[in-house]
Amino acid sequence: MISEHLAATEIRRVANFIDGQYYKSGPGTKTFELSYPATGKVNALVEEADAVAVDAAVMSARKAARGPWPKMDANTRAELLYKVAAGIEARFDEFLAAEIADTGKPVSLASHIDIPRGAANFRVFADIIRSASTEAFQSLSPKGDVLNYSLRKPKGVVGVICPWNLPLLLMTWKVAPALACGNAVVVKPSEETPSTATLLGEVMRDAGIPDGVYNVVHGFGGGSAGELVTQHPEVDAITFTGETRTGEQIMRAAAKGVRDVSLELGGKNPGVIFADCRFDDAVDAAVRSVFVNCGQVCLQTERLYVERPIFDRFVAAMKSRAEGLVAGDPWDKATTMGPMISHKQREKVLSYYAAAKTQGAEVITGGNVIEMPGEFAGGAWIQPTIWTGLPETSSVVREEIFGPCAHITPFDDAEEAAAMANATPYGLASMVWTENLTQAHKMAAEIESGICWVNSWFLRDLRTPFGGSKASGIGREGGLHSLEFYSELCNVCIQL
Ligand code: NAD
Repeated sequence: MISEHLAATEIRRVANFIDGQYYKSGPGTKTFELSYPATGKVNALVEEADAVAVDAAVMSARKAARGPWPKMDANTRAELLYKVAAGIEARFDEFLAAEIADTGKPVSLASHIDIPRGAANFRVFADIIRSASTEAFQSLSPKGDVLNYSLRKPKGVVGVICPWNLPLLLMTWKVAPALACGNAVVVKPSEETPSTATLLGEVMRDAGIPDGVYNVVHGFGGGSAGELVTQHPEVDAITFTGETRTGEQIMRAAAKGVRDVSLELGGKNPGVIFADCRFDDAVDAAVRSVFVNCGQVCLQTERLYVERPIFDRFVAAMKSRAEGLVAGDPWDKATTMGPMISHKQREKVLSYYAAAKTQGAEVITGGNVIEMPGEFAGGAWIQPTIWTGLPETSSVVREEIFGPCAHITPFDDAEEAAAMANATPYGLASMVWTENLTQAHKMAAEIESGICWVNSWFLRDLRTPFGGSKASGIGREGGLHSLEFYSELCNVCIQL
């Protein structure tokens, strides 16, 4: 159970939340430890859900999905989702503490993005379900008038498998529309970040969401709770955010029973900066898009293509801004750079830092760990890093690194920039900076990505389609697109 006032350093116990309450652990319950990423000190003990616990969660969801919840008037469900949003806000400080304890992300970030968006997701999808309509057709058959209309029905039980980089934000992005449509969910948060999903169970209960509509099980992926959820035959659909390789495994699991999947996967996102751009704004956006959340954002830019006349100036500006980032206590408002989520993830990113050097990159800045003083010495700190000079075939330029780093390549014309931007198996997001409107529209059409930001980055209107093309995912969520995934349309045909 999560204690009322979380401190990043106290050891707390995180339990599974099933059927409206904390699941009672038995003597054989396995637990695993979590460490505070900023210090490396153990700060939580998480109860791992075994097959019995996962089955209890899924069957509780099944019961709720057959109960009054899906039949409830959409306005009533929307009111409850508003209460959930208010409940998150009422316990804002606890959510903030839980998110920082799990991730070590700076308070300036978590308090402005993660927790507010967690609440906003519920309000947005409450509003959307209130106004959602379906189509109707009137026609004439040889026997007279015919009316066709569609009923929107929930899918039933949805398995929600989440990553660790934006735990509350990405989880509620899926849970809110799933509940709005009348489904029940079994959430499997990342093993690295179980706390805010668990705390949300209390908020759901207190808001009056019926027992079993929202369940949380903890554990790992393959051979653990993640796989148990995706393979459970009573799970009707699976929504997943995470790595492309895991997405492939989940798709295979979903094939059994021909269940629907929504996959939001990895990326290797390009940013194309033309010489006519608003230089300072473009640098600002590039800095945020490379380094925010220590580079652990799926929409992060890891490849920058800069038109040759401004290349040197742009690289110099990125160097200076990267070196101005402040790594420090996540709770200090002046901190702009937190640690990585774990030492394991840092090792992975460092292997790319080493590969860049071996492959002949010019290291413009960074390339190493950060040696932090005092209690932070054991944290997973890493330097923000910029490279130039690698060929486009380099693994550093081709593979998703998911760290605070980017490679910058010069280009001479739009065609060359688009070709380089598209030379990747991924297609999640892109960013284009130019004052030439025609150029901007042409590039947005040319670049193969699910999202293209022009003269902006990470500006999100939650009603718009969100998702990746190519190896970055299947399907779109956001606004009405989420309703498409979290509900089934049943056509009713009446001979009048
Ligand atoms: P991951 O794929 O390792 O894990 C994600 C979740 O899947 C975890 O909860 C994990 O326990 C679970 N899992 C792992 N194997 C499983 C299996 N066989 N069956 C069922 N569940 C399984 O991803 P991660 O390291 O947590 O997150 C980082 C990745 O997520 C990056 O690739 C990033 O680009 C991607 N991401 C994508 C988006 C997007 O919207 N496209 C958003 C955020 C993160």
